[in-house]
Amino acid sequence: MQKLTNKAVQINRSPMTLGERVYLPSIAKGLSITLGHIFKKSVTTSYPEEKRPFSPVFRGLHILNRDEVGAERCTACGLCALACPAEAITMEAAERKPGEEHLYREEKYAARYEINMLRCIFCGYCEEACPKDAVYLSETIMPASYTRQSFIYKKEDLLIPNPKTKESK
Ligand code: SF4
Ligand code: SF4
Repeated sequence: MQKLTNKAVQINRSPMTLGERVYLPSIAKGLSITLGHIFKKSVTTSYPEEKRPFSPVFRGLHILNRDEVGAERCTACGLCALACPAEAITMEAAERKPGEEHLYREEKYAARYEINMLRCIFCGYCEEACPKDAVYLSETIMPASYTRQSFIYKKEDLLIPNPKTKESK
């Protein structure tokens, strides 16, 4: 039969010598490897007490951004959803009413905006596609959960707090 690779190893099935049968050389060899590692710096991290530094390009949970006066930046244009390779983003657009200028930056806004984090692969394409600097991937790690529903992040979960509302509190 034709070999698929040349990685096959021929196993030596000859009877064991006396030295091999007492196992002492093998035990000594194993111990020497253990001793060689004992004084080396440990590579284990005691998470969660110790945390490893993030890579500068780490992409975590999304945030929906506001402008400098606290109005929502997202105009529900749908470009992020279009760019998303995992089809994780869904939204519904609504029209801004007179008097809501302080809430929504443009005439159109996202009445509903959801990201399914179980689908998301944190590629960052949504952030790159957004023409309004409205969606960003933060450095927050997505918390674990037992229910599928808790991985559907709604607009209320994603939107950053309004700085104006915080000031007035
Ligand atoms: S990070 Fe990538 S996969 Fe996740 S929502 Fe954005 S575009 Fe979709
Ligand atoms: S987050 Fe950006 S790209 Fe996505 S709908 Fe809103 S404005 Fe458009």
